[in-house]
Amino acid sequence: MPTAVLASWMKALADLDRNISDAERIDQLRLLEDLKSGAAAAQARIAADFDASRRADQAARGVPTSQQGKDVGAQVALARRESPHRASRLLGMAKALAHEMPHTMAALSGGRLNEWRATLLVRETACLQVEDRRSVDAALCRDPATLDGLGNAKLVAEVKKLAYRLDAESVVRRARRAETEWRVTCRPAPDTMAYLTALLPARQAISVYAALAGVADTHTGTGDRRSRGQLMADTLVERATGRAAADQVPIEVGLVMTDRTLLAGDDEPALLHGYGTVPADLGRDWVDSTDRAGIAAWLRRLYTHPGSGALVAMDSRRRLLPRSLRRYVDTRDQSCRTPWCDAPIRHRDHVMAHEDGGPTTAANSQGLCEACNYAKQALGWTARPRPGPTHTVETVTPTGHRYASTAPRLPGTPGTASQDSSALARHFADIIRAA
Ligand SMILES: [Zn+2]
Repeated sequence: MPTAVLASWMKALADLDRNISDAERIDQLRLLEDLKSGAAAAQARIAADFDASRRADQAARGVPTSQQGKDVGAQVALARRESPHRASRLLGMAKALAHEMPHTMAALSGGRLNEWRATLLVRETACLQVEDRRSVDAALCRDPATLDGLGNAKLVAEVKKLAYRLDAESVVRRARRAETEWRVTCRPAPDTMAYLTALLPARQAISVYAALAGVADTHTGTGDRRSRGQLMADTLVERATGRAAADQVPIEVGLVMTDRTLLAGDDEPALLHGYGTVPADLGRDWVDSTDRAGIAAWLRRLYTHPGSGALVAMDSRRRLLPRSLRRYVDTRDQSCRTPWCDAPIRHRDHVMAHEDGGPTTAANSQGLCEACNYAKQALGWTARPRPGPTHTVETVTPTGHRYASTAPRLPGTPGTASQDSSALARHFADIIRAA
């Protein structure tokens, strides 16, 4: 089917006649749901074909086997507007459906399974040998009626039961392997809170929780006004940092704010590196809680120009040292510059490669996560900084598709500032000189 026909469906959907009976509305809701599943199946087939074609092409060009297909996930990510991490899982699922689970693929194509339920089937059979996986695929999806009416949790339970019966050893092996992937992560929550998450083997997680609960319970009836949950959280902070939770923990990370926000009570929010937007009042409180020299040290590095909002490297008259350039790029880009990727920056990359004459400048640098940096080094990828007031990088993938990445908006961007004052600017310059 020509791509143009596919594109015309979008218009047809946007123009659907809304003057229909309620019975038709229900029919259409169901049909559109089937259509989404059918589209997911088609995407899986296309992604698997793209993977095979790209690998064959790379093999023909002499790319070593271990490197073939490395950039497929990154291209799928850009096309599907997903993060590279999620896209590589979608690609893995596409290949499993296309090559190992024909009945699941057929059920998805026919709308009897949606994309998430197909994902569960793929995920729960991932530890099995191909033959066993095919058995589960046939047992659960050959007859469309088998999974009818089963909720997601019951579906997972069915797969687990079959998998365990077929190969108990590999299920246990997978559990052991999962135990080696323990880690702690931090991600933003609403209202300037954050989730600190620990992924632990179940028995450790339960014992940590029980220990925190035990401490909290010793406070019951002592007149402490904190809730049990708050007591447990405070205990966690105390034990991990060695300081009382109520103490001000010094902020040793980049806080980007304008001088107007800091000194003139402007309400433009600040930006905390690795977190995101922070209300102006809170940003000022944090700054007030540290000493003056500390403030100046931050400002020197993380000040945005009142006119353009571009990040100003305050020591720009000197030749930028790699370390200060790195810090500059981290602050300007905040996280990986690949569109849709939120991963933290791990590599500061030359947009245009050094060996192709790309200079070591802020304009020719971008922050990338590890996966995106490796993907972009594959054969046929090119990138150029594009001129303009906001730092923009254009990446061209091997299929000739162009994707632009624009640096995030930092505090002080034109049109958002409520005032500008030369007296403030002078005051600000004094603080910097004093540091
Ligand atoms: Zn990335």
